[in-house]
Amino acid sequence: MIHTIHTTRGISHLPSQKYAKKQARTGLVKPTILTLNVGSSSVKYAVFSGTTMLLSGLIEKILTKPVHYNGGIGEPVSSASSLIHPASYAGAFQYILQRLNQDNILVDAVAHRVVHGEYIKQSTRITPALLRVIQRATELAPLHNKPELEGIRIALPLFKVPHIAVFDTSFHQAMPAKAYTYAIPRWLASKYRIRRYGFHGISHSYVFHEACRILHKPPKAVKMITCHLGNGCSIAAIAGGKSVDTSMGYTPLEGLVMGTRAGDLDPAIPVIMMKHHASSPNKVDGILNKESGLKGLSGISNDIRDIQSSSSPRAKLALDVFCYRLIKYIGAYAAALNGVDAIVFTAGIGENSAYIRERVISSLSYLGVVLDGKRNKSNELIISSPKSKVTVCVIPTNESLMMAKETIKVLGLRAKK
Ligand code: ADP
Repeated sequence: MIHTIHTTRGISHLPSQKYAKKQARTGLVKPTILTLNVGSSSVKYAVFSGTTMLLSGLIEKILTKPVHYNGGIGEPVSSASSLIHPASYAGAFQYILQRLNQDNILVDAVAHRVVHGEYIKQSTRITPALLRVIQRATELAPLHNKPELEGIRIALPLFKVPHIAVFDTSFHQAMPAKAYTYAIPRWLASKYRIRRYGFHGISHSYVFHEACRILHKPPKAVKMITCHLGNGCSIAAIAGGKSVDTSMGYTPLEGLVMGTRAGDLDPAIPVIMMKHHASSPNKVDGILNKESGLKGLSGISNDIRDIQSSSSPRAKLALDVFCYRLIKYIGAYAAALNGVDAIVFTAGIGENSAYIRERVISSLSYLGVVLDGKRNKSNELIISSPKSKVTVCVIPTNESLMMAKETIKVLGLRAKK
């Protein structure tokens, strides 16, 4: 049986204005927010009081043999597998509910990460109409939107509170037409909604605002290039808090070299692959999404740490191609912005690989970028030297916190820290 959390705060189905009034009456300035990030076989969750994280966790291998990690890292909680029944998203959600119940946590709102939100420009309260949009966008990003939609459908009846969708595409909806338009026949683009959407928007937007805060710069006045380098990699050019261009496109396959994704390539290549090698579009899709990138280039691994520790020529080439593509994009985005004040590195590789950062930054002397080698080695927040014309930062991304902040914004609350 799946338990429902009954919140005594009784805010379900209230539109945000009424909710804000209720908040003013009840003094609810620190809403308790559950953030959910549902993947193809995992659920990441966190609970915030306002913008302070209370707890977090990760359930992996949901459909086979679920394991739960407290805080999302370290040793799995040994008894979790036996507690997550059945091995399904519903079972995982029930487990999360039990954990909240144990700690007497009553949630006021639930935030759902949704990768593709088509043309939606901001985080939005989930309604039947919004669900239809998310469903339609499933065609464009099936691997992400399908499990996310399933998560929303399970969570809606369980938490009778406002549910908010926070989209990875929204931040990039500000891009100008010249950046999001592909040079293909217009009828084709409009029939299949083909344009650059861009992804990782929650992360790009979060690190942009964090960097402005750390550098004491008003967001409106800043030109910044943010590099999200994890398993998936993307880069964004941001001016005055708005995305001007980004490397991922119609799908998250375009742009930088990634763990297993090819990134940019001549559009004739998939056609040739279909003609001569792989017979079906699905096979080509599999090769470009799962067998390419660092993994395909190195023949070793999708993990840059394994490649860095190898002395094989293929490993060296993989690193060369990865860094060269990134260096080219930074140059292109510095041109698109007509100058850049700050460059930010984030996500697994961006936050941890001093080696990759140094290789990339050492090719940016034409922009007046000067690295502080010591700060870089110790992953400090600012890794450029004071004499650098461009400030270079390492900012740990925090998508859950960004989702909590967005939820507070949508509900019209002013959360106190
Ligand atoms: P995801 O995109 O799945 O959220 P992450 O942001 O966690 O991925 O990044 C995962 C990648 O980060 C790994 O594949 C690895 O290449 C890289 N990474 C993680 N830790 C380190 C480290 N200490 N040094 C270099 N690279 C690292």
